[in-house]
Amino acid sequence: MKKIDLPPSLLPNISDDVTNSMCLHNRHISPQIMANLDGYNWKINDYINRDGYIALKNIIKNNILPNEIILEITNSGLRGRGGAGFPTGIKWGFITKDTNIKKYLICNSDEGEPGTFKDRDILRFNPHIVIEGMIIAAYAMGIDIGYNYIHGEIFEVYKRFEFAIEEARNLGFLGKNILGSKFNFDLYAVHGYGAYICGEETALLESLEGNKGQPRFKPPFPAQFGLYGKPTVINNTETFAAIPWIIRHGAHSYSKIGINNSTGTKIFSISGDVNLPGNYEVPLGTSFIDLLGLAGGVRQGNTLKAVIPGGSSSPVLPSHIINKISMDYDAISKAGSMLGSGAVIVLDHTRCMVKSLMQLSLFYAEESCGQCTPCREGTYWLYNIIHKIEIGKGTLEDLDLLKSVSNNIIGNTICALGDAAVMPINSFLQHFWDEFVYHIEHKSCLVPQYL
Ligand code: SF4
Repeated sequence: MKKIDLPPSLLPNISDDVTNSMCLHNRHISPQIMANLDGYNWKINDYINRDGYIALKNIIKNNILPNEIILEITNSGLRGRGGAGFPTGIKWGFITKDTNIKKYLICNSDEGEPGTFKDRDILRFNPHIVIEGMIIAAYAMGIDIGYNYIHGEIFEVYKRFEFAIEEARNLGFLGKNILGSKFNFDLYAVHGYGAYICGEETALLESLEGNKGQPRFKPPFPAQFGLYGKPTVINNTETFAAIPWIIRHGAHSYSKIGINNSTGTKIFSISGDVNLPGNYEVPLGTSFIDLLGLAGGVRQGNTLKAVIPGGSSSPVLPSHIINKISMDYDAISKAGSMLGSGAVIVLDHTRCMVKSLMQLSLFYAEESCGQCTPCREGTYWLYNIIHKIEIGKGTLEDLDLLKSVSNNIIGNTICALGDAAVMPINSFLQHFWDEFVYHIEHKSCLVPQYL
């Protein structure tokens, strides 16, 4: 991570207004993970009163075979909620069945992308749903040790998770001979130090091993060569949190929620120019308009200008596109963006898109781990060019330069951060070209309030 001396942010913080405060709204549709939470009922007895640990108890009592659990998860259609959307059951199927080989299970709670703040609320308000999900996953794959790697800037969440682990251990849900069976599994919480790149799974592994958190070359992938070189399964917090409901109600019930290839519910973190920023759990396939309605609509009755639908690396979509689509993997992809982590950043008509892009570029320039030249140098160049345009010193050639630098980054780096830095650039230029040209030709902003 390199530190760059830069002017203060010009775009009002797009996520901090909610990341440090309680953003638990009771405005969910068919919630499975955030159901019946009041902000205080996070302890184990509260969870048990909400049917918690019943899925695990049923598995142990009925001696369900590990393969049956993997099949159930596969049939549910659950896709990884961290951003990639890879089918969870298939991922679990990749891991060796050999019980003599040491294997590890990891929960990736290193949530650090601008706009994303769902995992910290799952851990804050419902930590046992993640613990139960991890225990079931470990049972299904014959794993006896797991770690939850928690983002370093949410230390109180890490401490709460540690407390929850201890509660689960005391009631026999963790440790040796779980619930009187021959199944052993123990779980530990680990906290990072706030580097965004440690959310990349191989950088996370390096950090967990005590090394500098930098991504590894792939292949080999973690399923073959993971933590300490052993087969490792890494899933996102929200993915694990979905498991107990699926086991309790069955794959068929889960697959009926949502739409086509996007089954189940999804927690969307809505930030930016809305009246009620926060986390909202809704069935995948809910229309964007309905989701925006849950968040109280655009602030102060302003007009919607654009939305970044899946975290800061997902291409921006202008209002006339996002207003017509539903929030699911296929619809957003068809519209030219990604569902990603479900971080929905709303921009109203007062937003200057040059400044907004500059802010995003600054993030990637600061968070590049510096291992590969195209990313280390390119992200810095991208920021500098956009900054130059923003302050009225840009030229039309700079727009070509932006494209050229982007082309030299994309596909030429060890991990996806390079591509993530480029994707917003292309989409902002594609949809808001006029604003960039106006900045260059008039040395001022097209958006009235900035004139
Ligand atoms: Fe590091 Fe960027 Fe290369 Fe990823 S793409 S390894 S963040 S320098």
